Amino acid sequence: MNPLTQRPVRVRFAPSPTGYLHVGGARTALYNYLFAKKNNGKFILRVEDTDLARSTDQSLKMVIEDLKWLGLDWDEGPDSVTLNDQGDLGPYRQSQRLSVYKEHAFKLLKEDKAYYCFMTDQELEEQRENFLAAGRAPHVDSPYKTWTLEQAQAELLKGRKGALRFKTEGLKKNYIFNDLVRSRVDFPSDMVGDFVILRSDGMPVYNFCNVIDDYLMKISHVLRAEEHLPNTLRQLMLYEAFGWEAPEFGHLSLILDEDRKKLSKRKGATSCHEFKNEGYLPEALNNFVALLGWSDPSGEEILSLEKMISNFSLERLNSAGAVFDPVKLKWMNSQYLKTYSDDDLFKLLGPYFKSENINVILPADKQAQAIKALRTTFETLQEGALAFRVLDNQFFEIEFDSNEVMSWESSPPVVLTWAQELSHSDHEYLTEALFLEIQEKVKNQTGAKGKFLFMALRVAVLGKPHGLELKLIVPLISKQALILRAEKVLGKYVKS
Ligand code: GLU
Repeated sequence: MNPLTQRPVRVRFAPSPTGYLHVGGARTALYNYLFAKKNNGKFILRVEDTDLARSTDQSLKMVIEDLKWLGLDWDEGPDSVTLNDQGDLGPYRQSQRLSVYKEHAFKLLKEDKAYYCFMTDQELEEQRENFLAAGRAPHVDSPYKTWTLEQAQAELLKGRKGALRFKTEGLKKNYIFNDLVRSRVDFPSDMVGDFVILRSDGMPVYNFCNVIDDYLMKISHVLRAEEHLPNTLRQLMLYEAFGWEAPEFGHLSLILDEDRKKLSKRKGATSCHEFKNEGYLPEALNNFVALLGWSDPSGEEILSLEKMISNFSLERLNSAGAVFDPVKLKWMNSQYLKTYSDDDLFKLLGPYFKSENINVILPADKQAQAIKALRTTFETLQEGALAFRVLDNQFFEIEFDSNEVMSWESSPPVVLTWAQELSHSDHEYLTEALFLEIQEKVKNQTGAKGKFLFMALRVAVLGKPHGLELKLIVPLISKQALILRAEKVLGKYVKS
């Protein structure tokens, strides 16, 4: 319940699905979700899919997949699997509500608050240009606004197509509301002219559907992107025309890139799906996105969803643009990765091994050991999968800086002895102790010490003279695979 208005809290996320969820959309969804949960309210998913060409079932499923991944479950709206409505105030997809919009548009028409306008695109354009040339606001001045409904209907019967326009003429005043994020917003009504509510093809426009639905779905608060602020004037006019109480509005700040430009795809990933593919955890993304325009009163930055719910408040929403810092996101992800056990982290890597075509053939008892050896080397799951390439022979390559090491006289004998000792071993995998034992034997048999021993062995195992500690990595690679690597090195540097 909202303490001020005594209205039960009902909020919605209202995407126009055209593909995967953008981080901006994820933030809008998250704030609405947090606000609903915090206030024992309801979080509704409403689909603004009146652009039938772009808003397909497929694109809705993409948005739903991302919301589910983020764990932002909704109380009412299309079911995530069947897309069938759940909740009493549906349908929740605008494409299934066209009769509702028509009914409401005709109500305004009958009350003389809207009229049929038969101006052609060309006439509209010419008028606009003339007005601009005359230094006048380019608002439509339709000759049809004085027509009676009977006149218009006669025209329609002749087969002429008309759009329904909302009449703004009598509304001369300032529309003032208290935005939940940016405080007082003052719109003079003459900022807009008579605007279309139903197009001549009968399709309703965004501003109209949005108002009807927010009212009929009993939405108490609208938290949405700043870019919708100018729409709010039209929407307030419509609420007034219907005699409905408007919800409270809060317009969220822009999300900017590091150059303080609006975040765009050109600078890297911006959709949740991309972040998922790059190996970010949903809890890290939620946490990061939450801090793009909101802060916890404690100043803490690592916040679980539960903590965000209990500490969320609209007062802490910031109206200044929020800078999206990919380095911080990565750091945050690494903090969340740390919370997983070795076993769980290995399981999380599974899909990334697949997508990166990495064959991790490790006995079950070695998986946690491998994670232990590698987990400090990555900050995303994708990087984690790539870190495992060191265990997969198909990625074994001899890097350029091995050349110098292998030019040392002692190096080929070191690698050869290493390979021979390996083949004498009965173990499929060496333990750390067995590795150290063999290393000692190589040292004794070749007389190589220090860097002459260690660097040559690294080349034999890793294809490069630096990198991970051998005693941690060697026990994770089968004896057979180690021999193949050593042979490859010998093949390159030892002339037969
Ligand atoms: N369909 C609009 C969008 O995707 C929603 C606007 C609103 O929340 O009112 O931006």
